[in-house]
This record gives sequence, C-alpha cells and structure tokens, in this order.
Amino acid sequence: MPDPKKPVVVSGMRPTGRLHLGHLHGALANWVRLQADNECFFFSADWHALTTNYHDTSVIKSAEREMFVDFIAAGIDPERATLFVQSEVKEHAELFLLLGMITPVGWLERSPSYKELREQISDRELSLYGFLGYPVLMTADIILYKATRVPVGADQVSHLELCREIVRKFTSHYGEVFPEPQPLLTEAAKVVGTDGRKMSKSYGNAIDLGEDAASTTKKIMGMVTDPARKRRQDVGNPEVCGVFYLHRIYSEAPTVEWVDANCRTAGIGCVDCKRKLLEKLGPDQERLRERREALLARPKDLEELVQLGTTKARAVAARTMAEVRAAMKL
Ligand code: SF4
Repeated sequence: MPDPKKPVVVSGMRPTGRLHLGHLHGALANWVRLQADNECFFFSADWHALTTNYHDTSVIKSAEREMFVDFIAAGIDPERATLFVQSEVKEHAELFLLLGMITPVGWLERSPSYKELREQISDRELSLYGFLGYPVLMTADIILYKATRVPVGADQVSHLELCREIVRKFTSHYGEVFPEPQPLLTEAAKVVGTDGRKMSKSYGNAIDLGEDAASTTKKIMGMVTDPARKRRQDVGNPEVCGVFYLHRIYSEAPTVEWVDANCRTAGIGCVDCKRKLLEKLGPDQERLRERREALLARPKDLEELVQLGTTKARAVAARTMAEVRAAMKL
C-alpha cells in the first residue's frame, strides 16, 4: 500500500516505442527526481494510445516493453515507483464510465488538445467518442490513485484544470472522495530534434535514449545549427541552436560559457562545438545503452517487475472504487 505520509504523483506515457532524448529530459528526468519524496505511479497509457492509433494496435505491446525498459534505464526504480499497465487495471474503465455520466460534452469540445489534434491529424477519422472523452479517461487515471500532484509543463495546465473541474463536479454530487490534484509545474529542459523542430519520432528527427555511439555521433554531427553560421567565420547565436540546448543539459558550466562566447565571436566552428558535446553526451548514451541491453536480456524479470507494480496499482484502485461505489450508492 502507498505510504500515506507522502504526496501521490501519477503520470503516464503512451506506448509508442523507444523513447528519445526529448522524453528523457522533458519528463523522465523529472520522474526520477520525484520518486525520492513522493508515492509515484507511472503507467503505460495503452488505452490512450487507442484514441488516435486505433487503426494499428499490433505495435502497442512491443512498444510498451521498450518503454518500460527506457523508464528503468533512465533511473526509475520499480521498488520505489509503481510501474503498471493501464489496461490491466480495469477500474480505470469503470471510473471513466462513471465520470462520463457527469462530464458536460461542452467541456470536452473546448479542450485545447482536442482541437489541436483534430487539426494536426488529418489522415484518419477523429470524430470519435473515445477521442472526445480522452480527458475523462485521463481524469480517471489520475484520481483513481488519489493523486495530489501531477507533473505538467506550463502548456498542459489547462488539461489538468479540466480534470480538476470534473473532480469538483463529482464532489458536488456525491461528496468528497478525491483530492483535487495540483499541477506540479516542471521546467523541462528544452530539447529539439536534429532538424531544429520539436523532437518527435514522427518527424524522423529524434535521437533515441541509449542509441548506439556511431548513430548518436552521426546524428549530432548532422544536426541543424544556427542558419546564420553558413561559413566557419560567420558569428552565430547559440540561443537558436539545438546543439547549444544539449550543451546546457550535458556539459559543465565552463563549457557552456565557452560555447556561448565562442559561437557569438566565431571563435569555434559548429564541428568543434558538436565534438565537445559528444564528449559528455556519448558516454551518457553508452551508459543508457548498456542498461537497456541488460534489461532486454532478462525479459522475464522485466515482466515480473511490471506485474508486481500492476498488482499494487490494482489494490489501490480497488480500494478507491469501493469508496466511489459507496459514495454513489451503487
Ligand atoms: S557553434 Fe555550437 S551553438 Fe553555435 S551555432 Fe554552431 S553548433 Fe550551434
């Protein structure tokens, strides 16, 4: 059972395969820090994957295994944090259904991610009940464990606000079962892809977590830099360069200052700058690669860890649902 003295943190990720450096520095590094002082539940949001990828479900299970390997390789400790699979805790579906009874459709239609994704994804039908109801399922995921804190970036606070509104609606009808989860604002390190756009598998610009040395080197050396630096003697602006963002994450302060000053005066070229970055990023990727390989070599152990976490999550979820049914007189 969770330690009642610790705040409860819940967060999930859709299983889409190998994670990349954007996931590592945008979310996972923060999760690793949070597990020290919080009761953490980190899950594979496999049902959420269906809301937009219902047309191809064949990759979900293998993607999930890769994702859990990446979680642990990045430093999530399954003995401190509970790792589980959403679809294996059926209470998520029950609570989703019950919350759906009290959630106004207008709230969901106004959700910024609903509008954004419908505009972005034009190659498939998204006028779907499951897709519209995505925030209701997300609310169920969070409150089932009575989360008090949810790690979010500044752009996701509105999503959590919808969850909090649903909690308030539930409380007004049936009394207080759930705490209102508070946003745990995280200042995620900025990471962009090799082409300068947001790092994303779908853009083909990602560097995978623990990618091998040759491939990491090739991608870093081919990375787009400040377009103003066409020739070695052109001065640049590190603030518009993805290589510099990575230096901020991987390099020591004196190196970051060295890059900052010498980029602006053309004291170094982009090749020097990238080689310097690889001195730190290369060994880090190698360490992650080794940890991934060790985990992949013991698939049964990995399965057991996730099963243990799922059993623990089920026990907490069952207890909450007993309270929900009592509050709703069901
Ligand atoms: S010197 Fe470094 S920071 Fe400046 S543009 Fe080149 S790669 Fe980017």
